[in-house]
Amino acid sequence: MAGHKHKKQFGQNFLNNPRVIQQIVASIRPKPDDFIVEIGPGEAALTEPLLEVVNHMDIIEIDSDLIEPLSRRFGSNPAFNLHHTDALAFDYASLLTPEKQTLRVVGNLPYNISSPLLFHLLEYAEHIRDMHFMLQKEVVDRITAQPGIKAYGRLSVMLQYACETEYLFTVGPENFTPPPKVDSAIVRLLPYQNKPFVADNEQAFAKLVKQAFSQKRKTLRNTLKGLLDAEQIEACCIEPSVRAENLTVEQFVKLANLYHQNQSMHSEA
Ligand code: SAM
Repeated sequence: MAGHKHKKQFGQNFLNNPRVIQQIVASIRPKPDDFIVEIGPGEAALTEPLLEVVNHMDIIEIDSDLIEPLSRRFGSNPAFNLHHTDALAFDYASLLTPEKQTLRVVGNLPYNISSPLLFHLLEYAEHIRDMHFMLQKEVVDRITAQPGIKAYGRLSVMLQYACETEYLFTVGPENFTPPPKVDSAIVRLLPYQNKPFVADNEQAFAKLVKQAFSQKRKTLRNTLKGLLDAEQIEACCIEPSVRAENLTVEQFVKLANLYHQNQSMHSEA
């Protein structure tokens, strides 16, 4: 695929260091019978070593200029299934068959769409066994942050609600062509089979978390106006004077469940 012009709009920073590629594949620990979905193969830095192990891969690439060279290189391999489409709009459930019920999603993701892509993938969490992604280090810090840490925010709460999250390792810019301006990191996400804390209504939960973090410096008493008042926040054993960044996922679920309960009561009245 010599001569491919890297496209900034598709976040094309291709891995160039065999040692890092090997480290990523080792973290994924692919097995022949796994159903791997790779988002953004680029020039196949991860695709090729994964195809050496697994019997079936679905590969999603948006860039028309990469489709033909990828097909030429791997088209005769029965394990290789290329989807020329946008990973953000893709219906991951369409890949399921009676034999293929859980997917393992991997990718060195285009950084410009990483948050919306993660939210899109969460919609399919019940069909996903695990996910291994390269992201901007700052995003991995946010995903894995604990309450009270500056990086803790909406992304931390929404992902930690649905998945166990693990920061694996940092990858410097020199390992990519062209080098990005920032450090990158690998994260492992394991969707819960049984969530430790369950929101009665996930839309209400998402709405409350979004609103709580909408003005980071303000207290819950202010940010949750219109959803819960100070008394109701206290009824969840939470101080209305604290900020969203200090609440655990469990506390967000408590607040969201009370909010949803109130909403249901009002709609019944
Ligand atoms: N996996 C390769 C590697 O590690 O060298 C390439 C990674 S590069 C950071 C991101 C890849 O995602 C590119 O191949 C890019 O064309 C592709 N991409 C960007 N936006 C996409 C989208 N919305 N849907 C599918 N693929 C996309």
